[in-house]
Amino acid sequence: MFEEHASEVSKFVKSIIQEENAMQRKFYSKLECVVDENEIIEKVMDKWNEMVDMPSYHELRDLLKKRLNITNNNEIDENIRLKSCYWAEKCHCITDKNLSLHAVNCHNGQRWYANDLDDYFGIELYKYDLIVGGPNHGTFIINGNHNENENEEDIEIKLADFNQKFECIENINKLVQDVFNENKNIKERNAERKKNFELYRKKNKIKKIIEVYTMFKTKYYMMIGYNERSKKIYNVFNKKRQELNTEACELLSINNNYDEDLKILCEELINTLDVVNNDIKTWYTTIEDKINTKFNQDISKYICEFI
Ligand SMILES: [Zn+2]
Repeated sequence: MFEEHASEVSKFVKSIIQEENAMQRKFYSKLECVVDENEIIEKVMDKWNEMVDMPSYHELRDLLKKRLNITNNNEIDENIRLKSCYWAEKCHCITDKNLSLHAVNCHNGQRWYANDLDDYFGIELYKYDLIVGGPNHGTFIINGNHNENENEEDIEIKLADFNQKFECIENINKLVQDVFNENKNIKERNAERKKNFELYRKKNKIKKIIEVYTMFKTKYYMMIGYNERSKKIYNVFNKKRQELNTEACELLSINNNYDEDLKILCEELINTLDVVNNDIKTWYTTIEDKINTKFNQDISKYICEFI
């Protein structure tokens, strides 16, 4: 009899846990994925390698050759490393009015990030760097530290000085920025969904706990039983009930950003726990009294008489 009721309750609890796990798996599998940074780098590298055949690149190359006073196309094609930059999140330095928090990559309150795009691993210095995107978009750098360059300090050539837009550079900038913007949107959407889901899950969990205790209310005496383990089971139940009660009270004490349904559910849970607790307490005390006084006494008396 005891086992039957215990297994009914535990089956119910198990099904709740399974349901919740399945719900969680389903939710997380449906979240949008951001485009991986390595994937973006690969895409840009491919695009950059295709540029060699584009007219806008040829215009840029001709202008650079003229400026650097060189004639060989390969000198430009093979010696440029692309530095791809993109605008990212806002920097908190502005709102905090504390410039010591100012990040190195912050430009007027907005942070940017950079990737060196390279065909091979390593940190070998290229003769030239070309910055695409970010605060220094369209800067061509003749690296001062490179042995084959005569200059000791870096020399910067602003492509804007050529008074024309180079489609090759603009396209790469747009490609990178668009992907990172979309990634940012995805992250924001996911964060909002997670927040809503967690709230839903919390409320759902409380509803289920109330269901469990409502079920338990009609079966507790069968589950606690009338034997030597009863006291232990009763104490375990009592401890769990107190924990749940504390948790519900804590949730109720959070004032900001409060959800009305969650509040009602917490109150209902506390109330249910109280009712079940009072029932069990009364029942258990009576049983305990009876076991310790009349029941034991009567039995022993009866046995003594019988012997
Ligand atoms: Zn800043």
